[in-house]
Amino acid sequence: MRTFSKQRRLIAAAAALAMLATACGDDGGDDGATDGGGEGESETSAPAEQPEFDEGTKMAEIQEAGVLRVGTKADQPLFGVEGPSGWEGFDVEIAKLIAEGIFGEGGGENIEFSEAVSAAREDVLVQDQVDMVVATYTINDERKELVGFAGPYYEAGQDIMVEEGNPEGIEGVDDLNGQPVCSVEGSTSIDNLREMAPDAEVVALDTYSACAEELSQGNVTAVTTDNVILIGLIEERGEFELVDNPFTEEPYGIGVPKEADEFRDWVNDRLEEIYESGEWEQAWLDTAGQVTGSAPEPPAVDRY
Ligand code: GLU
Repeated sequence: MRTFSKQRRLIAAAAALAMLATACGDDGGDDGATDGGGEGESETSAPAEQPEFDEGTKMAEIQEAGVLRVGTKADQPLFGVEGPSGWEGFDVEIAKLIAEGIFGEGGGENIEFSEAVSAAREDVLVQDQVDMVVATYTINDERKELVGFAGPYYEAGQDIMVEEGNPEGIEGVDDLNGQPVCSVEGSTSIDNLREMAPDAEVVALDTYSACAEELSQGNVTAVTTDNVILIGLIEERGEFELVDNPFTEEPYGIGVPKEADEFRDWVNDRLEEIYESGEWEQAWLDTAGQVTGSAPEPPAVDRY
């Protein structure tokens, strides 16, 4: 069981600093679309000028429009939050790095973010309300019937969050049977819960922050979804803990319109570029890594 204590955070911060020091001492051997930058700056793979794309491609269309429309989460600390200083989190940083591949350096400014709750993610793509969804969005075959996925760019696992001290002694998914448990409509988390703990009393809400509120009020015994989402809520609220016994694999993809194969290929190329340049790692260290510590190896993209 973990509560991500202050001590853990300090260890995480020290590890992040050590990694940063290593990254700074290594020029990566890239030809570098970078001007070298100042001390302590990370390398950037984004060109200073706007890249060129063939006419008629979705990349060219987005560049022409001057805006990349991105659906993300607005209430998931560490991954996607709309806060007083704007949109923040690992998903937000990934979207900005994708935007730099279209608009050049500083391209994150050209993003129009909007909230896409779990159940809305396919709809906003199918109805052309956004160009992409970067929203703790698990790649799976059922969703591939409606949308396309670049990535994965991260692998999470479903876990369980309980009240601090774990009063009901929840050790794993089986213990959720017979308990009131909150998860979110339109998520893989709620499907897995129904399948793996069929006797749980499922409370289905729109967002994980609403589930956290139910747990805080004592209306449910547990909240279940991806570990990194729960870790963000634990960190923010300081009244819960993670069971830390993940029971699924959740590869996060970037949702794109189903028929946009060329765009999907390009987003995959761009992901490989930011893996290579160290920007993916830096995005992690700046966001989720502040709590979890050093970045994992990025997963290989799946060009299906
Ligand atoms: N990754 C899971 C999903 O895409 C759960 C997290 C979420 O709902 O955003 O359904």
